[in-house]
Amino acid sequence: MTFRTLDDAKDLAGKTALVRVDFNVPMEDGKVTDDTRLRVAVPTINRLRDAGAKVALLAHFDRPKGQRVPSMSLKPVVEALENVLGAPVRFAEDCVGPDSVEAIRDLDAGGVVLLENVRFHAAEEANDPVFAQKLADLGDLYVNDAFSAAHRAHASTEGVARHLPAYAGESMRRELEALDAALGNPVKPVIGIVGGAKVSTKLDLLKNLVGKLDRLAIGGGMANTFLFAQGVDIGGSLAERDMAETARDILAEAEAKGCEILLPIDVVVATEVKPGAETRTVLAREEIGDDEKILDAGPLTVEKLIKAMTLSKTLIWNGPLGVFEVPPFDVATVKAARAAGDFAKAGILTAVAGGGDTVAAMHHAGVTGDLTFVSTAGGAFLEWMEGKPLPGVEALKA
Ligand code: AMP
Repeated sequence: MTFRTLDDAKDLAGKTALVRVDFNVPMEDGKVTDDTRLRVAVPTINRLRDAGAKVALLAHFDRPKGQRVPSMSLKPVVEALENVLGAPVRFAEDCVGPDSVEAIRDLDAGGVVLLENVRFHAAEEANDPVFAQKLADLGDLYVNDAFSAAHRAHASTEGVARHLPAYAGESMRRELEALDAALGNPVKPVIGIVGGAKVSTKLDLLKNLVGKLDRLAIGGGMANTFLFAQGVDIGGSLAERDMAETARDILAEAEAKGCEILLPIDVVVATEVKPGAETRTVLAREEIGDDEKILDAGPLTVEKLIKAMTLSKTLIWNGPLGVFEVPPFDVATVKAARAAGDFAKAGILTAVAGGGDTVAAMHHAGVTGDLTFVSTAGGAFLEWMEGKPLPGVEALKA
């Protein structure tokens, strides 16, 4: 994958860089409660400042749906951003028009301005070309550092890149490199783990992966659907019984493409999903009561999965193996995650995880810092796993 990065952006002194960031931070009573996303943007902002550029930050916050919603203003982010940057940050009451033009004009070289929520304009999500041009008029170059918004073809993620030289920021570059190492151009053999609740939400993802991976472990609630499709008695487990045919099609496709599928060989069942619930561990082929639910993978399954990891050079993971939010149904996810973390730390496995609950699951297992990369990009990460081109990334291709 070749895309333009800040290494390609020359002679930045005195220029204005329009930088798309993800500042959709958690906020309570007008205060930022977690500044992770702000810190993620610092390397890009500082690199541009050090090169003498003016930095105009473009971001969305929440879903104002094209209206000026005061509670969705980015203004409260300014103070938190000043803290992580250790430098003053100006605020412009609008992301286009006189407010933004004046704020940028008044900046010294290396100065930073945060522009108001780009989604206050309906034209943003409509990717209106006139609006994209207005954004572009503010700067000399465009830098996208928000991979998490790259699956949207919006004016600030895609349209603006048509009017300015466009580059990947440092965090975008890190993410793209990690994703490329996991699925684009991975060192083989590659194993995938896909868990989570439902097959129906991950159909495209499963179809894409079976064509690319050497092995795919299926876990979580979606494994129940696959077991059911194979005639296993799954009792009162969560499953999409009407997806049985689809599950069989995926298994057939995997076989045709030489992707080995690992389904649970033993499972943890309980009648209630509550902390410390009484459980039974049974082989997947054994009888399960109508009132029992499969809530986690069993120890034999985890052992087999860890063995499969040792036969692999690359791991890509989305979705927990069980109801990890409710111990003891977190055991399989935690054990597998710790093994992946250990292998990655030892340099024998490139391990990339991401998407929705996976970030929380890896955090719960305490392995976020051990894995090669944990993507917090959510929807963009999943669309990328589905093999879909991401408009915000396509716009940066060299
Ligand atoms: P997803 O967002 O599709 O990755 O699904 C994540 C959710 O799947 C988590 O909230 C888990 O609690 C849930 N989950 C995982 N395994 C099971 C299972 N065996 N039965 C019911 N829910 C499950």
